[in-house]
Formats: sequence, C-alpha cells, structure tokens
Amino acid sequence: MAADCLFCRIASGEIPADTVHVDDAVIAFRDVNPQAPTHILVIPRAHIASAGDLRATDSDLLGRLFAVVADVADREGLVRGWRVVTNVGEDGGQSVGHLHLHLLGGRRLTWPPG
Ligand code: 5GP
Ligand code: ZN
Repeated sequence: MAADCLFCRIASGEIPADTVHVDDAVIAFRDVNPQAPTHILVIPRAHIASAGDLRATDSDLLGRLFAVVADVADREGLVRGWRVVTNVGEDGGQSVGHLHLHLLGGRRLTWPPG
C-alpha cells in the first residue's frame, strides 16, 4: 500500500466508498463524480500506478479485474452494452495514480472519446 494514495486508502477501508464488489485482490466502488448512470471503478488492492506499469506477471490479476467488470456490468443490468476505460498519464486524463478500470454504462456512449 502507498500511504499517500487515495485508492489504496479506499481499498484498506480508511476512506469510505460505495462498494459493489470486494475480494482478496480486487475491489469495485461507485465513482464519486459519475459520467454515466453506471460509473464504477474496479481496482486492484495492490498499488500499481497505471496500466503503463503492468507486466506479463500481472496476467492473473488482469483477468480477475476484467472478470469483476463483467460481473458488475451484469449485476447493473447493462444488457445494451457498456464501456471499460483506463486512463494513463497526463495526456490520457489520469487523475488518480492507482490503476483503475472505469466501467461506464446506462446511456449511449459517444465515440471517439474527447
Ligand atoms: P481518472 O481521472 O484517474 O481516470 O479517474 C479517477 C476517478 O476517480 C474520477 O472519475 C473521479 O471522479 C474518481 N474519484 C476521485 N476521488 C474519488 C473518491 O474519493 N471516491 C470515489 N468513489 N471516486 C473518486
Ligand atoms: Zn494505491
């Protein structure tokens, strides 16, 4: 855990969140500033700064992150589709330096993103 990391503090329970999934490696919680009717962040408990820091040895964790995304999308009833996004760095629009997958759904999403 990185002590100064917001999402590490949410993962540890130190900062409250509207959590929709918890297991030993992954947690998911509603975004505080939702950009769609469903906007959920899926994160590893382990501190990884961004998708730019993933290595081949993280393959199991990545599979688990995406399995949680799919399960939550199902539970949210996103039968017409949804989007998963991860922002990396300044140009990517990343504002929190702990890997997170945005699950967005519940409205027609435009493409390309801004
Ligand atoms: P990024 O901009 O890094 O891709 O995404 C960070 C996301 O975290 C943003 O969508 C932002 O609204 C969300 N966020 C920032 N602080 C908090 C917080 O304290 N709680 C929750 N639930 N979401 C947060
Ligand atoms: Zn962290």
